[in-house]
Amino acid sequence: MKQFWSPNSINKNKAMVENLQSHGVITSDEVAKAMEAVDRGLFVPDRSYAYVDSPLSIGYNVTISAPHMHAMCLELLEKNLKPGMRVLDVGSGTGYLTACFAFMVGSEGRAIGVEHIPELVASSIKNIEASAAASPLLKQGSLAIHVGDGRQGWGEFAPYDAIHVGAAAPEIPEALIDQLKPGGRLVIPVGNLFQDLQVVDKNSDGSVSIRSETSVRYVPLTSREAQLRGE
Ligand code: SAH
Repeated sequence: MKQFWSPNSINKNKAMVENLQSHGVITSDEVAKAMEAVDRGLFVPDRSYAYVDSPLSIGYNVTISAPHMHAMCLELLEKNLKPGMRVLDVGSGTGYLTACFAFMVGSEGRAIGVEHIPELVASSIKNIEASAAASPLLKQGSLAIHVGDGRQGWGEFAPYDAIHVGAAAPEIPEALIDQLKPGGRLVIPVGNLFQDLQVVDKNSDGSVSIRSETSVRYVPLTSREAQLRGE
């Protein structure tokens, strides 16, 4: 029998974005467009859970964050993700959020992911290659993912308009503040057991203003060895 409506991944992804809009998590059109363009289903190991609002294991003792956390971070950084701007994604994991950043800053901008598990870097590149919205940016070079310790940032393309950290740091790494442009914004979960999502704005005189957005629970920003030991 002919099916009139098939619940394919594109319309499930769209429904996920509409749900985040209806709950007020997404208010920016640009954020909605990016999350619609980058199908989350291409970035998770098990597609059947891709659109559920929950973190999912991606191996190596870490998780891809829940869609509402990705949306919240995109919203907090939206003004610093305009076409042509530079963004650094520390702990890029699956590459999902790095791809959304790249889509927003476009081919004139630069989106750099740094991840310390080489296998995750390799799989994130495969994920991005499968995404019609992100793969041209990877090919063209405005989107790249590197293996490295993200606590050092990525000096090559600094300073950045936006820096996102996808793992909780015991304290804000100095290198990340140094690599922020005046007018730039860093969004980073800070803490150990109890964590706050902190928003760090660099002022034009180089000083910083820090506020806590909300309580969160992220995996730690740590050494590769400690992470693989499950600490
Ligand atoms: N934002 C990503 C992943 C979140 S999990 C996503 O949603 O898919 C946090 C990621 O940070 C993991 O992939 C972990 O391997 C990485 N990570 C932890 N400490 C790190 C460090 N010091 N340098 C680079 N990456 C790190």
